[in-house]
Amino acid sequence: MSEREAGGGAGAPGVGVRLGVLGWPVAHSRSPEMHNAALAALGLSGWRYQRLPVPPELFDETVRALGPAGFRGANVTVPHKVAALALAREATARARAIGAANTLTFGPDGGVAADNTDAPGFLAALPESPRGRTAVVLGAGGSARAVVWALLQAGAADVAVWNRTGGRAQGLAAEVGGRAVAEVGPADLLVNCTSVGVRELAETFKSLPVTADALSEYQCIIDLVYRRGDTALVHAARSRGVAVVDGLEVLVRQGALSLEGWTGRAAPIEAMRAAARQT
Ligand code: NDP
Repeated sequence: MSEREAGGGAGAPGVGVRLGVLGWPVAHSRSPEMHNAALAALGLSGWRYQRLPVPPELFDETVRALGPAGFRGANVTVPHKVAALALAREATARARAIGAANTLTFGPDGGVAADNTDAPGFLAALPESPRGRTAVVLGAGGSARAVVWALLQAGAADVAVWNRTGGRAQGLAAEVGGRAVAEVGPADLLVNCTSVGVRELAETFKSLPVTADALSEYQCIIDLVYRRGDTALVHAARSRGVAVVDGLEVLVRQGALSLEGWTGRAAPIEAMRAAARQT
């Protein structure tokens, strides 16, 4: 597909096609570097991806202005994923089932379409299919809903959901599936969908219901949290020889799927991975 067919010539001359990530805060996001590297690798020189810091009270009116301002699409991160689904005119079945959207596409008529690529992105990041496997999911926020839904759709045999606030785990299990647990035990996969590990590394094993040594009871640890350098969870798993998928790999995979939807082109995964990991 040519740049023009992919939308590279859309919009007023010199404006090009715009993409971005909506969040509050959003300064920490690696998505702009990752997507701009992808756009360059695809030769989409008129496209730009930018941070869009938007407080919750301005989310709806800002999103409605993006299409007319030349935006083709936007990723959505904390705390806007539920609001993004709510304002969309159309949404994929998976976004509705999960109850949150991380990808918006703006139509020429001003319509907003919502999708959730966190779920298929998580599955794409796994070293193998979770079909028939057991999993423990830590957390009950937006990313946990996507991960539990993805695991069950992919045929996981058992998905246990633990959350600091137990009632939220019960609510997630009732709405999405899986079973809420107050304590966690051994399983094939352990997925951290809490925000523990973003800043306070020393607090990780005080805040989560596993010890560093108990990580050996899992075949693979997946940490959705990403930061510069390994999280404490990833570091402890690696040092015990446990297979690891880190948050940057999940970021790359969900971003690749969003990008493919906006451009109609196969995502340059290696370029995205290199840019996401560049310090
Ligand atoms: P939410 O705000 O929706 O949920 C946060 C979760 O973390 C809740 O379950 C909350 O528990 C828990 N939590 C927060 N602080 C603590 C604590 N001190 N101890 C124990 N549990 C705690 O966030 P998301 O689900 O959207 O995102 C979670 C993390 O995953 C974020 O760091 C986000 O950046 C990352 N993420 C990464 C992605 C990637 O592509 N790599 C994709 C999506 C998310 P409680 O209910 O008790 O408050």
